[in-house]
Amino acid sequence: MPSNLRIDAHRLWASLMETAAIGATAKGGINRQTLTAEDGLVRVWFKRAAEALGCRVSVDEVGNLFALRPGRDARLAPIALGSHLDTQPTGGKFDGNLGVLGALEALRTLVAAGYETNAPLVVVSWTNEEGARFAPAMLGSGVFAGVYSRADADAMTDTQGIRFGDALEGIGWRGELTAGAMPLSAYLELHIEQGPILEAEDKTIGVVTGVQGVRWYEATITGRESHAGTTPMPRRADAFIACARLALDAQAIALAHKPTAVATVGRVAVEPNSPNVIPGVVRMTIDLRHHDDGVLAAMEMGLHAAIEEIALDDRVDIALRKLHDLAAVKFHPECIAAVRAGAEALGFAHRDIISGAGHDAVHLSKVTPTAMIFVPCKDGLSHNEAESATIEHCAAGAQVLLEAALALDARLGTR
Ligand SMILES: [Zn+2]
Repeated sequence: MPSNLRIDAHRLWASLMETAAIGATAKGGINRQTLTAEDGLVRVWFKRAAEALGCRVSVDEVGNLFALRPGRDARLAPIALGSHLDTQPTGGKFDGNLGVLGALEALRTLVAAGYETNAPLVVVSWTNEEGARFAPAMLGSGVFAGVYSRADADAMTDTQGIRFGDALEGIGWRGELTAGAMPLSAYLELHIEQGPILEAEDKTIGVVTGVQGVRWYEATITGRESHAGTTPMPRRADAFIACARLALDAQAIALAHKPTAVATVGRVAVEPNSPNVIPGVVRMTIDLRHHDDGVLAAMEMGLHAAIEEIALDDRVDIALRKLHDLAAVKFHPECIAAVRAGAEALGFAHRDIISGAGHDAVHLSKVTPTAMIFVPCKDGLSHNEAESATIEHCAAGAQVLLEAALALDARLGTR
């Protein structure tokens, strides 16, 4: 049975639209990059809105925001609900914002009903999820989870040479709290899918069971530069032809593990990049993703085999360097079950889904039981000013977020 608490879809929508005005772009999106003046303004908005609900708002040393509503039992660690309020330079209105404002709406619903949870609830807005200004992405949650240190974060610089630590102090949001000092009972994050699956299958809720692993490589192919007119085909060592073969092999490797494996060659640099010179050197990236690390390992072996064969056939040298290796994440069974049961009880069409993109929940899952809730977005489009989601889907997501939090809270109370 679902609770008799119902979130207010129009109140949630009004908050989404009100905050979307902070950093609004002409094409209907948001440019609210982390630690800019706009980020400062939305932080003030969030703090006011949370304090109006009687929450205590605290800020940690990397600017993560925590709005806490006490529960019946102060000995219980809070259940955290959240996401991020920063955006890409040409970001949309829902990526991250829905997770924070949906959590705020869940809290508003509890306050309006006078409903007291067993554990405290805390709405969190993580600093620099997007990584658009300071790389890497998911930085604030990463420091909270101990993946990076405060010093790592402070030292990161944007393209203007401004340090993260200086930018944070510049907008006045360096807090007192040590990052990660707050123990949590669980973490739930509501987010738009940023992909086409839910919309295509007419599902309202994605029960996110994990996040796929990512491996990034750079291949440097060395052939021999020579004249495009005078070098007969059998005498060539064409680094670009080897690159093209490797790109097709990467595609074949992904298709051998369909439907979930993906492979992308996103960057290719050809030298000397001249129309009448056979390319001597090509540098290319290869991005492999799958939700099972075993499959990723098999894909990597396939890549090595392809490279050996191409090097031999095309008389080139291929050096492969691994740039990134992020393991696949499996969310917590109890949190996943709470999300699924919430969607079920509310009668929403739902399916299990793996996240193709990284989220703050990836880091949080290392320190507390975690799961995510997805709702559809139009044409699967995200990181785009045209990003769009319906009021019904946003509301359904926030309602499932509330139900799942209440289910986890009920279990904490009976332990
Ligand atoms: Zn996001």
